[in-house]
Amino acid sequence: MLVFILNAGSSSLKYQLMNPTTQNVLASGLVERIGIDGRLVHISNDSKTKLEITMPTHKEAIEKVLETLTTGDTKVIDSIEDIDSIGHRVVHGGEYFSKSVIVDQDVISKLEELIPLAPLHNPANILGMKICMDLMPNKENVAVFDTAFHQTMAPSSYMYALPFEDYEDHGIRKYGFHGTSHSFVSNEAVKLLNKKDSKVIVCHLGNGSSICAVRDGKSIDTSMGLTPLEGLMMGTRSGDIDAGVLSYLMSKKDMNAEEVVNYLNKKSGLLGISGISSDLREIIEAGEQGNERAELCIDMKCKRIKKYICSYAGMLEGVDAICFTAGIGENADLIREKVCSGLEFMGVELDREKNSIRNDENREINTQNSKTKIFVIPTNEEFVIAKDTYSLTKA
Ligand code: ADP
Repeated sequence: MLVFILNAGSSSLKYQLMNPTTQNVLASGLVERIGIDGRLVHISNDSKTKLEITMPTHKEAIEKVLETLTTGDTKVIDSIEDIDSIGHRVVHGGEYFSKSVIVDQDVISKLEELIPLAPLHNPANILGMKICMDLMPNKENVAVFDTAFHQTMAPSSYMYALPFEDYEDHGIRKYGFHGTSHSFVSNEAVKLLNKKDSKVIVCHLGNGSSICAVRDGKSIDTSMGLTPLEGLMMGTRSGDIDAGVLSYLMSKKDMNAEEVVNYLNKKSGLLGISGISSDLREIIEAGEQGNERAELCIDMKCKRIKKYICSYAGMLEGVDAICFTAGIGENADLIREKVCSGLEFMGVELDREKNSIRNDENREINTQNSKTKIFVIPTNEEFVIAKDTYSLTKA
């Protein structure tokens, strides 16, 4: 059984070819600058191949990927017939999808309806599906949604305090994102806890970051909202902000609505405060050399995470485990230490030595006496996509 996993963006796509039962990844890669010039980085057979080749549209890009998988030194399968099914990462499933589904015309129509909610992402996701259906007509396609895991939230968590008609007429509510990651990590945590009733907080800290409160395996609240801009301070996104700042910025900096949203999405967060980079590694380095804005950046990031952890611990009425995942969560011991320090009052005691160990395994980094477990759990969104695709399409 082999699943081709596709994550199609507006000018890029990421892919993997995975056996969902063994988790073995035969090949993976990234295509960038589609429609501009076209660059492919492909990893297979323990080596990395870089190609610069014209790709006017996503169709040529996917064709090139399939050719790379089946020919030359990069070959890992004899023909595309060896691929059993295709799993697509889809950003927005709105209220239609609370779990992964096999793609058919009805699913595509619903995703098209949802384009206003994810104007940058859903069109690319739909395009990826249509091209795969065209190039591999005898294979089933499965859509796996970033939003699906959070469909268990109660209205009191997902509603914004706006006139109710805005929800009814325009679907304005919190949807949440990073659902595949929150689902995978919380599930791993429950296995480690080996407990029937579980209260878990997952901190997915990457370029995009979000936190999720998970009760008995179900998302009850999460920090991202209608769009992935709400919540934590991120690489280039502001996260939570007084809505009044938007109109103030518009008048002070002579921006229109689109410009101001772009400003909050692309120019803010770690990049905006540090003035150095959106990459936390560079900010930590600058902080170590005494750069005050880098230090402020780290303090702000950690304070926000802590604020959400405490708020979710209250909502869960306790917490069995706090989990850290994604680029920052898995690698940045400094951030984990700063976030956990001062939370001893709620039974969170970090073991500094265990925290400094770095590997790719699930690991426990709390002291023996800590009432609350602290886990580092490497996320694996591709595995969730492959697993769901396999379970929906196996004969
Ligand atoms: P994306 O949201 O793009 O998938 P990732 O999960 O790859 O992001 O996380 C990227 C972030 O992780 C970057 O800010 C990067 O600096 C940070 N990161 C990766 N490794 C480390 C490290 N060793 N120490 C601190 N931060 C790290």
